[in-house]
Amino acid sequence: MRNINYIILHHSATAPMLNQSDRDGSAISEVICKRARAHWESEFPLYRCDYHFLIGRSGKVFKGQPVELPAWHATNYKVNLESIGVCFIGNFQTGIMPKAQFEAGVALVRKLVYMFDVPIKNVLRHKDVISDITHRANSTLCPGKNFPYVSLLSLINKTPFEDIPPDYKYFKEIEFLKKHGIMEGENGKFNPKAFASREELALVAYRILTKLIN
Ligand SMILES: [Zn+2]
Repeated sequence: MRNINYIILHHSATAPMLNQSDRDGSAISEVICKRARAHWESEFPLYRCDYHFLIGRSGKVFKGQPVELPAWHATNYKVNLESIGVCFIGNFQTGIMPKAQFEAGVALVRKLVYMFDVPIKNVLRHKDVISDITHRANSTLCPGKNFPYVSLLSLINKTPFEDIPPDYKYFKEIEFLKKHGIMEGENGKFNPKAFASREELALVAYRILTKLIN
């Protein structure tokens, strides 16, 4: 697996009229990825998309480029090699992001930050990246002046599970268990007040004991 140090946020800058006929963004995502494939496939046969993830306005997440592979999205070669590109469908230079899309974006970025141990300071907007072409930042408007960057960042904390915030009473303990693979939660959640079944307890005991023995 390549080393991932950055998450770069983009918008698709697509026209708002497209959103009416393509509510979840699947058609726009498909077109964006298809265009990127047509451009790069001869040079990089495994190339799928310029973005690793695309988020539609209803909050649906589409997978583009596999995370194991870099994608050409950040206008900086080194950053491309070490980043994951996330594209929010819409134009946030002119429009406002719907709540469902924002929430899906927070959940996805939070998961990626935790999974790849990306420093929060390296969650950047495309325009924050120093361009290889102009050698400065702000050489693009992407992801637009209305992109809710500050609110998104304020909700991205390094949490082991989305329902365990850093101020949770047993945050440290739960994070420790997650890190060591003792408790894995379900769909990104820990469900702290849910009951554990005998089966789950057996798994926890098994994981601890095999760690002690090996
Ligand atoms: Zn961009």
